[in-house]
Amino acid sequence: MEWQPILKDTAMFVGDLLPNIIDYEAKRASFFWDEIAQELDGLPHHAGLNIAHEAVDRHANSAHGGRVAMRWLGRDGSTREFTYQDLKAQTNRVANVLRRLGINREDTVFALSGRIPELYFMALGTWKNTSIFCPLFSAFGPEPILQRMKRGQARVLFTTERLFRKKVAPFRDQMPHLEHVILADGREHAPDNVWSMSLLMADASPEFEIPPTHPEDKAIIHFTSGTTGMPKGAVHVHQAIYHHYMTSKYALDIHPEDVFWCTADPGWVTGTSYGIIAPLLHGVTNIIDEAEFDAERWYRILAEQKVTVWYTAPTAVRRLMRLDLEPRQMFDLSHLRFVASVGEPLNPEAVVWGEEKLGLPIHDNWWQTETGGIMIANLAACEIRPGSMGRPLPGVEAAIVRRTGDNTLEIIEKPGVDGELALKPGWPSMFRTYLHEEARYNKCFVDDWYLSGDLAMKDEDGYFWFVGRADDIIKTAGHMVGPFEVESALMEHPAVAEVGVIGVPEPTIGELVKAFVALKPGNEPTKALRRELLGFGRKRLGSAVAPKEIVFKENLPKTRSGKIMRRLLKARELGLPEGDTSTLEEN
Ligand code: ATP
Ligand code: MG
Repeated sequence: MEWQPILKDTAMFVGDLLPNIIDYEAKRASFFWDEIAQELDGLPHHAGLNIAHEAVDRHANSAHGGRVAMRWLGRDGSTREFTYQDLKAQTNRVANVLRRLGINREDTVFALSGRIPELYFMALGTWKNTSIFCPLFSAFGPEPILQRMKRGQARVLFTTERLFRKKVAPFRDQMPHLEHVILADGREHAPDNVWSMSLLMADASPEFEIPPTHPEDKAIIHFTSGTTGMPKGAVHVHQAIYHHYMTSKYALDIHPEDVFWCTADPGWVTGTSYGIIAPLLHGVTNIIDEAEFDAERWYRILAEQKVTVWYTAPTAVRRLMRLDLEPRQMFDLSHLRFVASVGEPLNPEAVVWGEEKLGLPIHDNWWQTETGGIMIANLAACEIRPGSMGRPLPGVEAAIVRRTGDNTLEIIEKPGVDGELALKPGWPSMFRTYLHEEARYNKCFVDDWYLSGDLAMKDEDGYFWFVGRADDIIKTAGHMVGPFEVESALMEHPAVAEVGVIGVPEPTIGELVKAFVALKPGNEPTKALRRELLGFGRKRLGSAVAPKEIVFKENLPKTRSGKIMRRLLKARELGLPEGDTSTLEEN
C-alpha cells in the first residue's frame, strides 16, 4: 500500500501553540549549540554544569518554583504531587545522605525499584552529589542485577525491602564494592549498612550546595536493551542535558505550560533522558505512572491529567491498536497536542491509526542508548511520511554509509540506497565509552563517523527510513530484505496485531523469510488465515520478499522495553543457544 504523506500546514496551528520549529531547513542552517547553552543557567559562580541544577534548582529558585514538577500516579489510585521547590528539598536531602555515607564524585549509585517518587529523588540527588546514576529494571532477576552491579562497581544500591531481600541480599557477598543499601520503604536501619531512606532523609538537611561539576563529568551508566546480544554499559556525562533540552524542545515540541508523559521506565534510556531529565529541564509537569500498561488506564491518564505531549513506544501503540477501542468516544483527549514514539520502527499503519483514533498522527523518532537522546525525528510542523523516522535534528549530522575497509567508509549520497546509518560525533549526549569495553567502543567509529549498527536509507528529501538492524537483515534469493518492511506489510492485515520476521537458512535461496504473527483478539489461528496472510504478503511485497512461512504465536519474545527480539525467534527456530536473555520480558 502507498501511504499518503501527512501534510502539516501552519494554518492548522492557528489558535493553538505554534510548534517550536516551523522552518526545518532554516533552523538547521542557523542552529548552534551555544544557543541551547544560553537557555540554561550553568552552576552559580561559574562552577560548571550539573543536570540536577538545570532540571530542578533553576526552576525552584525562579518565579515558577511552585509549579508541579512531578505528578505521580500510584498503582492503587493514589496521587502524589511535588513542586519544583519540593523536588529541590528532597534531592538536596538525598545528596546530603550520600555525602554522609561517604559517597563521592564518580561513585556509582544503582537503582532497582518500580516507578516510585523516591527513585526520581535518588537520580537527581545522585547528580547533585556528582555521583553516577545507574537505573535497572525492577523486574530483572538476580543474575542480571548482579552482573550489572558488578560491572558498574556499585557502591550504593537504592531499592525496596522486597526487591532487596529477594534479589540482592542472597548475592551481596559477590559484590565487594557495594557498601550501602538504601531502602525506599525501610522503616528501621538494619545491620550491614542497610538503611531506611525515610530515616536518613529525616535527618538530612534540605539545603545543599552542588559542588563544581565539569560538563564532562560522568553522570549516567545506561545498559542497552540487549536486543541483539549482551547489553553494553553506555556512559553519559552531565552536558548531555544540552541535547535533552534541545530535542525535547524541537522533536517533542515541549512548551512551558505542557503536561508531559513519557511511558518508558527509567530502566532503559528513554525513561531517564525523557522520563526524568528532559521535562524537568523545561520546567513542565511530568506525569509518572507506577502501573504497567493497561489500555483503559492509559487513556484515562491522558484524559484526566490533561496530558499535552505524550512520548511512548511502538509496542504500546500496537497493544492499543489490538483492542480496537474508540478512545475519543470514551475519553476526553482534547488536551493532547503531540504524540511521539521511539524504540522500534513504527509501522505506517500505527502512524495512521493515531490520526484516526487519537486525532493526531504519531511522530516516530530514532535514537539509541549510545546517542543518549533523539537524533532523527518527525517534527510537529513537518510533513510525516508514514514509515519514515523523519529527518536529523538541528545540530545532528546523519548519513548513510558503506564500510569499505577497517577504517574507511564511503558516504552513499544516492537516495533510496540502503546502508549503515552513521552520525557525525560531537552532539552533547553521545556516550563517552562502553563500560570496560574500550575496544568495542572504538570500533563504533570509522573515519570520523559513529556507526549505529542500524541499516537505513535516505530519500531525495532527506527523510530517513529504517531498514533493519545490521544483524537482522535477511539475504534471500539475491535480495537483501529488512524485516521491518515485511512486518509492516503484514500489519496492514486487519487480523494481525504484531509480527516478527527472521531469515531461516535454506540451501537454494540462502535464507527463507519467515514470519511469526500474533493475532488480534477474535481471530483464530487457522490454516485458512495462514494461507490468506501468505497471499496478502505476496500481493503487498512480491514473491521475492514476501514470507514463505508464517507461524502463529500468542506473544512474541520482547525486551522489557518492548522490542521484538528477532535473535531469539531465530535461535529458537534453529535450536541454537538463546544467548543473554536478561532483558527478556516474561509473557
Ligand atoms: P542492544 O544494543 O543491547 O542490542 P538495543 O539496540 O535495542 O539493544 P537500545 O539502545 O535501547 O538498545 O535501542 C536502540 C535501537 O532501537 C536502535 O539502534 C534501533 O535498532 C532501534 N530503534 C529505536 N528507535 C527506532 C525507530 N524509531 N525506528 C527503528 N528502530 C528504532
Ligand atoms: Mg543497540
